[in-house]
Amino acid sequence: MNASPYSPEEASGVWVYLEHRDGKLEGVSLELLGRSRELAQETGESLTALLLGEQVEPLAEEAIAAGADRVLVAEHALLGQYTTEPFTKVITGLIVEQRPNILLLGATTNGRDLAGRLAVRLRTGLTADCTDLSIGPKSGLLLGEVTGFGHGILATIECPVHRPQMATVRPGVFPRPVADPTHSGKVERVDVILSASDQPVRVVKQTSRRAADVTQAERLVIGGRGMEGDFALLRRLAKAVHADVGATRVAVDQGWVREDRMIGQTGSVTRPKLAIICGASGAMQFTVGVKDSETIIAINSDPEAPIFEVADYCVAEDAFQVIPPLIEALRREPVEEKS
Ligand SMILES: Cc1cc2nc3c(=O)[nH]c(=O)nc-3n(C[C@H](O)[C@H](O)[C@H](O)COP(=O)(O)OP(=O)(O)OC[C@H]3O[C@@H](n4cnc5c(N)ncnc54)[C@H](O)[C@@H]3O)c2cc1C
Repeated sequence: MNASPYSPEEASGVWVYLEHRDGKLEGVSLELLGRSRELAQETGESLTALLLGEQVEPLAEEAIAAGADRVLVAEHALLGQYTTEPFTKVITGLIVEQRPNILLLGATTNGRDLAGRLAVRLRTGLTADCTDLSIGPKSGLLLGEVTGFGHGILATIECPVHRPQMATVRPGVFPRPVADPTHSGKVERVDVILSASDQPVRVVKQTSRRAADVTQAERLVIGGRGMEGDFALLRRLAKAVHADVGATRVAVDQGWVREDRMIGQTGSVTRPKLAIICGASGAMQFTVGVKDSETIIAINSDPEAPIFEVADYCVAEDAFQVIPPLIEALRREPVEEKS
């Protein structure tokens, strides 16, 4: 790999790329700011947020309340909607000029697109789809934890030589920080020089589908292959405990549930107060998406199922025998909507 534009010795600062929609910061950006604040404290560096768009400066205050020491605001008509080239050009310019040590992005559709392009442009390494981030106690390097290659490997990846150290993190991995309106930070506007030739691709029309956001659910009822497609039963249980419905990849692949409800490595990472997991074996690619739940109840007819290793309460029974009487009992003694 060719050398990146600056060396580790020249690098300083933790940077977070902010995504926003409809005049609000995306949840994943707030989550990243919260975790980055802690990482920056460990490395003794400052935390900078990158805010690109058109008329986006008002969002800087939200980023500062979430922990940013400084917000770099880049505004231009060609940044009004995300397209790869102009965003890459502006951020590459800022990175080469200011030399951050770490750059973090959300592992969203746009975040993944941008991160890959930036890593190539800057000739640095990128740890994609991290399920945790920390700082190496001896090396001081960014450590990205990822599940690997479908074989149940949990790998920790570092980027010792090239800068910035880059990682993407999926929505829901870190909790959102509590906004602190007393936290102070500076807003710096940066000059943006872009022309039409910097935007080879133009957005002609944008349509959005209302996707379920299981990452924010306080309670989840999750079904796997063992439910044999009977998600109607799980929806009834979910209603009785005021929960959202999630699913394993198998249940999604079978067409029983929409993809936006998939939990796990390729689905969403969640941290509900309560997860009731029914008929799922507990493959690692699934459990990375629920392991941080406050309480896990697992129902599985196989007493040896790995899901019981992450569960707080283990019900080694046939889900079809357990769930209907449970729903009945909940009907007689309803649970509160908020825990
Ligand atoms: C790169 C990669 C990424 C992946 N990403 C994800 C991901 O994001 N999310 C995900 O979920 N998977 C993911 N997978 C797939 C994952 O490895 C597992 O195959 C999947 O999670 C298994 O789904 P399952 O538990 O529903 O099915 P199974 O593993 O088949 O388990 C079904 C379980 O149901 C139990 N059961 C059967 N009948 C009953 C009954 N009547 N009552 C109670 N229990 C019963 C069985 O004992 C069994 O334990 C990924 C795989 C790869 C290779």
